[in-house]
Amino acid sequence: MAEGKAPRPTPAELAAEADRLKGLGLGGLGYCDRDLERAAALTWRINGLKGSLQAVIPAHVYQRPEILLGVADFQGDSYQLAKLCAESRAKRIVFCGVRFMAETAKILNPEKEVLLPAPGAGCSLSESITAGDVRRLRARHPGAPVAVYINTSAEVKGEADVVVTSANAERILRRLFAEHSRVVFAPDEFMGRNLAAKLNKAPGEELIIWKGSCVVHERFDAFAIALYRKSYPGVRILVHMECRPELAALVDFVGGTGDMLAYVQKSRAPYYMLMTECGLGELARTRFPDKNFVFMCRLCPYMKLTGLAQVLRALENPAAAQRVEVPEPAAGKARGAIRRMFELAEGPAGR
Ligand code: SF4
Repeated sequence: MAEGKAPRPTPAELAAEADRLKGLGLGGLGYCDRDLERAAALTWRINGLKGSLQAVIPAHVYQRPEILLGVADFQGDSYQLAKLCAESRAKRIVFCGVRFMAETAKILNPEKEVLLPAPGAGCSLSESITAGDVRRLRARHPGAPVAVYINTSAEVKGEADVVVTSANAERILRRLFAEHSRVVFAPDEFMGRNLAAKLNKAPGEELIIWKGSCVVHERFDAFAIALYRKSYPGVRILVHMECRPELAALVDFVGGTGDMLAYVQKSRAPYYMLMTECGLGELARTRFPDKNFVFMCRLCPYMKLTGLAQVLRALENPAAAQRVEVPEPAAGKARGAIRRMFELAEGPAGR
């Protein structure tokens, strides 16, 4: 592509851009004037290029604040981003997230150019299962439909019957159990166990769960919950579905990132603690400046690989490694499983 380099801002434009970033909430997240100016020099150029290149920038809620607030056209969880990418009319998608997300965007938009600014951004959960593992699961559990979490490679999605996200997994599994007594869920063990507890399965029904995990969410434990409840009376504690099921009984809410933000928006509590990747808490602080957040979060080493300089590079002159391709037949098969997710997530509820 390489359709030209972005011009550099004048001092006045740079100062105005730094003010814009500050006004969006970066100042409140601890960015000093120097940080804001450094970010502004890149966000100004990135935003200037997007229109001429007909590019959109989706960003996952775990991305760095300067990306989420400074350049993203839409922010969301995996499900929201997959949907918005499918609806987008842009010619290029510069995906600020990790590889499986960019692959999903490419699968849904085969005619568009999809770029992943940080080509090394993998995911421990996605890497915990292969397409061969799914084929072996099928052979071991004949007749049981296979639902895989969206945090999987294109090849793994291609072997599944349906893809799910944390926002719609419960609904989709209920619909599968309406017709089957056994359902396979992969790869997140803790999420599978959290879902199994919610499903109230009838005798004879079984959710067969793979043993993968997320390096961020597997580390939260009960000790911190007790400590924070004592220090912050009235605190509402929300945990992500990828956390250990043992935590569910100790907290106020278990769900995906979108559900956690909706909970904060609707409720009134003196404090909130979001036990997930730190990016969500930072975003929540900028969205709900009148609410108080206490921090008990962890950084995802993959999500934080993306920086503004790489986003600019992907727009101006993408490296070969930044281009995302998903070869056939895996792409077509995975597209079928993702489309099935849209049908089941948005159709009538199951049992
Ligand atoms: S937070 Fe966990 S599931 Fe999400 S990208 Fe990072 S390692 Fe993967």
